[in-house]
Amino acid sequence: MTSTLPSSLTGQASTPDSAPLPVSLRIRQRLEAAGVPFLANDNISEQLLEGELDQLEIEVAGKVRELLRSLVIDIDNDHNTEETAERVARMYLHEVFKGRYHHQPKIASFPNVKKLDEIYTVGPITVRSACSHHLVPILGSCWIGIKPGERVIGLSKFTRVADWVFSRPHIQEEAVMILADEIERLCKPQGLAILVKAQHYCMKWRGVKEPQTSMVNSVVRGDFRHDPSLKAEFFELVKQQESLLGH
Ligand SMILES: [Zn+2]
Repeated sequence: MTSTLPSSLTGQASTPDSAPLPVSLRIRQRLEAAGVPFLANDNISEQLLEGELDQLEIEVAGKVRELLRSLVIDIDNDHNTEETAERVARMYLHEVFKGRYHHQPKIASFPNVKKLDEIYTVGPITVRSACSHHLVPILGSCWIGIKPGERVIGLSKFTRVADWVFSRPHIQEEAVMILADEIERLCKPQGLAILVKAQHYCMKWRGVKEPQTSMVNSVVRGDFRHDPSLKAEFFELVKQQESLLGH
């Protein structure tokens, strides 16, 4: 009598003919079983097992190679595109979309012992993303306004968390909401305001080819939402920071 371990235990999910499933499918099955969403701007790092990111890089490179072949590019003889597939796979998984596959950078927060409650703004923080619709760049600047609450985090940490959140395929409105959620989780401010101004290559490089258009959006929460003067102060501070830069 033979027994086989269920595929969920071996981590080697199998098709009926026992061919191993692509790693992306194994991850997907795990995400679905756990009820974890995996939309373009979700982070799935909690559900990845050790070594799977390397396997994923190999799988993605293979698919990009197929994409290049489908675009009728002679990758076997073109020295320029010979290793493009590998570069693109690395770029997606570890650079431009790292906010999907990598854990949030460690961000220490401290109790607000001095009970600071004056608002401050941090910015501009450069944010880089890609539109979910065409995967072309979104480049912009972000300002964060805080009215401190229970905990405080260092100024540079805002840059790190913004970079992590934006490094996913996004639409700008959702990127700002997700960033707001993460900052609220990290330091539970009494008030939070975020403003993002970004250039969408979707509009500059393709489509309407409108090079000067930018998109501005903001989210205000807590005291910034309830107190119009505080909200006005935030936008005034942003304006001052911008004029310092000569914008
Ligand atoms: Zn687009």
